[in-house]
Amino acid sequence: MSHTVASTPDAVTLAQQLIRFDTTNPPGHEAACVRFVESLLSDAGIATRIVAKDPERPNLVARLPGRGEAPPLLLHAHVDVVPTAGQDWTHPPFSGDLRDGHVWGRGAIDMKGSLAGMLAALLRLTAYGTPPAGDVILAVVSDEENGSAVGARYLVQEHAHLFDRVAYAVGEDGGAGLELGGRRRLHPIVVAEKRAVWLRATFHGPAGHASRVTPAHAAPRLLARLLNALDDGGLGPRSTEAGTRMLTELAAAHPGPLGEALLRFRDDPADTAALDALSERDARYLCSVSRHTANPTVIRAGTKTNVVPGEISVDIDGRLLPGPFTTDGFIAELKDRAGFPMDVEVLVEGEEMPGPVFGPFYDRLAGVLRAADPDGIPVPMVTTASTDARLFPQLGIASYGFMPLLLGAGLPYRDLLHAPDERVPVQALRFGAHCFEQLLLSYP
Ligand SMILES: [Zn+2]
Repeated sequence: MSHTVASTPDAVTLAQQLIRFDTTNPPGHEAACVRFVESLLSDAGIATRIVAKDPERPNLVARLPGRGEAPPLLLHAHVDVVPTAGQDWTHPPFSGDLRDGHVWGRGAIDMKGSLAGMLAALLRLTAYGTPPAGDVILAVVSDEENGSAVGARYLVQEHAHLFDRVAYAVGEDGGAGLELGGRRRLHPIVVAEKRAVWLRATFHGPAGHASRVTPAHAAPRLLARLLNALDDGGLGPRSTEAGTRMLTELAAAHPGPLGEALLRFRDDPADTAALDALSERDARYLCSVSRHTANPTVIRAGTKTNVVPGEISVDIDGRLLPGPFTTDGFIAELKDRAGFPMDVEVLVEGEEMPGPVFGPFYDRLAGVLRAADPDGIPVPMVTTASTDARLFPQLGIASYGFMPLLLGAGLPYRDLLHAPDERVPVQALRFGAHCFEQLLLSYP
């Protein structure tokens, strides 16, 4: 390490500083946190620009010039976090405390810890005067956790020119977690996301006195049929390109009965018995990325105990697999399952993320992880969540979820996303910063 360069802030300190800004969304209030990042980068001589639809909720786009030998690379990170209200935390969620080898607080994993790693890498490259092959664009955005309207969606729709010529983007991993018994340390690289299609199904039947048996077409009986039809929320099993590749690589990483079971499930996603060897959590995850899901969440029915309601509505959180699946097709499948007429209104329809791109850049991401952790195995993953990675493909940018963390096997840190006691091990943060630095140095 050079003795001529003053030390740059490390990822642990940066994560603590970022966590201390309360950016709970809603309402967000990301401005102070974004300004903090702005001054950090501009003090280091990196060009920054604030782009805001709402001045209280700005976005920052920074650009580190490269050697002009490769197209620009985009790193994106959101600074907003989900609420902590009603959760029981061991340490205050915005303390950024360092305890027991962990940085504690909301955002430690999702995703201020990751942003800290990106910043540490950029600052080191700048301090050491080692420009990457292409420009590196860092987009620090607001509002990922609540629709991205003033964040990444605004950038993509109104400031697309800032991302000219960008071919690849790297953002959060969206929580694609799989332990597989902790036999091998897996490093997920998210190559595809499910998309949200939220619906409201409304159906009618005769209203009337609740003192007698009800007819077959009474709304409460239709409700029972609908809930039954949706059962665990999984619709018909389907294979996707991303899922198939994921299962193939997971199987290769686990030779023996587990690998064989994964291949059985790959070849026939209806064969859920193949997943019996997995934990319930892993089995549910693999089922969820081989099916659209439709979970009833809000039911509106009735106003009085002795009156059978004539109308019932059910809000359904639908998540569609990545690939050529349409909202209309999803609704048709849902109606077919229910088996009775209903009106379906689309409440929210997420952007389609294109199919996965496997190629030199994916190989680069995997190579960085393999070099940094020879015992770990990078695997392509599909996530059930949706992130800002769904928006950048609209600019022709292939987007990946890359959240390099060195976690002990079997420790479910990804389960702490949006949960109380979110925290991240110090060595995981440093590992992440190292991986981002290696990515920038070795790109393309
Ligand atoms: Zn996130």
